[in-house]
Amino acid sequence: MRVIVTGGAGYIGSHACKALAEAGHEPVALDNFTTGHRWAVKWGPLAEVDLNDRRGVLAAFREYQPDAVMHFAALSIVGDSVNQPDLYYRTNVSGTLNLFEAMTQTGVERFVFSSSCATYGETNEMPLTEASPQMPLNPYGQSKMMVEQMLKDLSAAGDCGATALRYFNAAGADPDGETGEDHDPETHLIPIILQAASGRRSHISVFGSDYDTPDGTCVRDYVHVSDLARAHVAALETTTRGEFRAFNLGTGHGHSVREVIESARRVTGRSFDVREAERRAGDAPLLVADASKAKAELGWSPQFTELDDIVRTAWHWMERDTKAGSAA
Ligand code: UDP
Repeated sequence: MRVIVTGGAGYIGSHACKALAEAGHEPVALDNFTTGHRWAVKWGPLAEVDLNDRRGVLAAFREYQPDAVMHFAALSIVGDSVNQPDLYYRTNVSGTLNLFEAMTQTGVERFVFSSSCATYGETNEMPLTEASPQMPLNPYGQSKMMVEQMLKDLSAAGDCGATALRYFNAAGADPDGETGEDHDPETHLIPIILQAASGRRSHISVFGSDYDTPDGTCVRDYVHVSDLARAHVAALETTTRGEFRAFNLGTGHGHSVREVIESARRVTGRSFDVREAERRAGDAPLLVADASKAKAELGWSPQFTELDDIVRTAWHWMERDTKAGSAA
């Protein structure tokens, strides 16, 4: 299948392009380079388009005539979404409507959506199943849930079939070193810790040590980005018109901020300064996936099950001497 991958120059989108190409599909990366990188477009053509450019999106669909869409392009920093909700709704919701319009006009029926465990919010029910209540704690999670709702309605109307993949904490990098995480500014825990380990950052701040968790710090389910990419391919191949499905993607194991710090110490062999800081707005104490539905229905299970192995791929990516095309 030819697949338009929105956000194909980004972190998870570029890994998905690689997984698609390896599975014999043809990815077309559609990106506006707000946060993506030209060096990350390696597995197919590039359509340089902003999702808010309605005509540009339609023109790209007419040019490439895709069979399906994988939709990653979105703003994804929880704290920013609290401060600038309008920007998040415009990009993540309104931009997605433009995609739907282009799909309808060009007869594209398969849609795989990059959703999030942020659609669940705070609950005592752990691990989270797909049936857990969706009560987002922040506008980012709300925007993802709104798109899921639109997909349910569009699928019910028979316009398309859609699969929403609710991932937990994407982490790590392509084990072959062909792509990886590179955000500016970086807000995610593992790359921030590794920046501290490599001396690029003076210290790591632990956001909250008084949560109701075993060591007082937040617990997350870190899942390898290449595993996520494989799940997208499996979802694509099984999405059928008229049907909406949602799957959790995680390892089923939670790790606290302190445990991630210890893992980074083991993997890098470096010591670095750790400071306790205030809680960060919008953080849930504990988010762990029950991914048994994805295993049963998509035949998916993570190949990376150990945190140290995930952190090691991220460390290898960060420690590369020259990033392909880093001048781009
Ligand atoms: N975190 C932290 N220090 C940092 C960055 C993150 O303590 O510099 C914590 C954050 O509060 C959360 C966890 O690490 O509990 C994972 O945060 P991240 O931003 O990586 O992912 P999120 O769970 O927000 O999607």
